[in-house]
Amino acid sequence: MTYRAYIKKDYKPEIRWVADRPQFNRSLPLLAVTLGIVVSLTVFVLFSDGKSENKANTVVLETNASLPLESAALAIVREAESAAPTIIPEPEQNPVDSKVETPRWQTVVVRKGDSLSMIFDRLSLSPRLLYQIMHSSDDAKILKELLPGQKLDFLIEQGEFLSLRFEPELTRMLEAHKSADKISSNIVITELDYRNKQATGRIDSSLFLAGLRAGLSDRLIMQMVSIFGWDIDFALDIREGDEFKVIYQEQFKDNVKVGDGPILAAIFTNRKETYRALRYTSPEGQTNYFNEEGISMRKAFLRTPLKFSRISSGFNLRRKHPVLNRIRAHKGVDYAAPTGTPIKATGDGTVTLAGRKGGYGRTVILKHGGTRSTLYAHMSSISKNTRKGKRVKQGQIIGYVGKSGLATGPHLHYEFRVNGVHRNPLTVKFPNASGVPNKYRADFKKKTAEHLALLNQQVPTRLADNKESKVIALDETRSASRRVH
Ligand SMILES: [Zn+2]
Repeated sequence: MTYRAYIKKDYKPEIRWVADRPQFNRSLPLLAVTLGIVVSLTVFVLFSDGKSENKANTVVLETNASLPLESAALAIVREAESAAPTIIPEPEQNPVDSKVETPRWQTVVVRKGDSLSMIFDRLSLSPRLLYQIMHSSDDAKILKELLPGQKLDFLIEQGEFLSLRFEPELTRMLEAHKSADKISSNIVITELDYRNKQATGRIDSSLFLAGLRAGLSDRLIMQMVSIFGWDIDFALDIREGDEFKVIYQEQFKDNVKVGDGPILAAIFTNRKETYRALRYTSPEGQTNYFNEEGISMRKAFLRTPLKFSRISSGFNLRRKHPVLNRIRAHKGVDYAAPTGTPIKATGDGTVTLAGRKGGYGRTVILKHGGTRSTLYAHMSSISKNTRKGKRVKQGQIIGYVGKSGLATGPHLHYEFRVNGVHRNPLTVKFPNASGVPNKYRADFKKKTAEHLALLNQQVPTRLADNKESKVIALDETRSASRRVH
């Protein structure tokens, strides 16, 4: 299937999507299919001739993409961002030449290897002026450390310097002015305004599209994915009709939006099950997302211990062993991945084995509290700090994918045991990571009450409707079932 994104060249996030020949078949065991297919990107960037306004000013990006749509769509947006041309005008070569010159600001982008004296030279400004500016105040010293890509704004009238502005950060700007042959300069601090915003969406094909339609940036969508990702598998669990509401912060500078995030609170209904997340910072300064009960959104275990290309063998109590060629229960999950792929501890724990273990090859076993343990087999090597008796943290690299022991190719064999009994690592219920400490429960309730009330207001269905007409239907069936406005 092909997705096409149209993005205006001025990079106002006006994105339209067209999908040719989409094939969403949710009844398939998507896992193997999804993960097995590689996303291939073809990008066509059509630059305008700079004359016609509309179509020519559109960057068209196209991708032949398989599921998961989320990552394909994200890849396109990233490509678009990098393809979006810079719109800073180059300084004119000879500003003196034009006779009726009104005072105007020129923006200069610092190039690699540039210095302020080179920039002054390019603008035909004298070294003496540069010296005056540099010595006009202590604040002016920040001009000494220019980085490529940073911008300087000059106000030059009929070849004569009037002002300079340099804004190394959103909130800090150096201003230098010339009056009566004297230069004065100082740094001006601007406070950002923060406003809370709310977005609601309903999914009909993908979270990413619904998020864009609701007005969320890709950054906020990915934030939502990471908050709920412990409970919802966004590649496999998303269904048409799933709904979300997000309360988030936007930053403004002089009434212009300059950024968004973090998400302050969110609710997600996935297949009729509802999850709430509230951002809370404890008096000690620890920030995390918790549900309304103060229980952490994080889980005590990661679902998968590595970045894998596909699951080559699932949990199956009656499987024919590929090497031994006889029925032998497969009490774990095999993740195919290239040799050397890092393997992470799925939870905090203690190493009970780190070394060779028969057909398992190089193996690590971790014990997590009294009842749970995890096993990682066929490693090419075990991390140096993963030794028997040592403690490891969730996400810590404990070894690397290989094919030691009885293995046909490089993969990780992963097992999850509860009270010594093998459980399917893909479906076993994980305990939550620790929640809000008891002593902060009252503080948590107080600080999150307002956001929780907002979340619990009836999610108006089809809220994204007014924006929906901008989005081209993904396929005939879906557009037919879609309500008409
Ligand atoms: Zn296996």
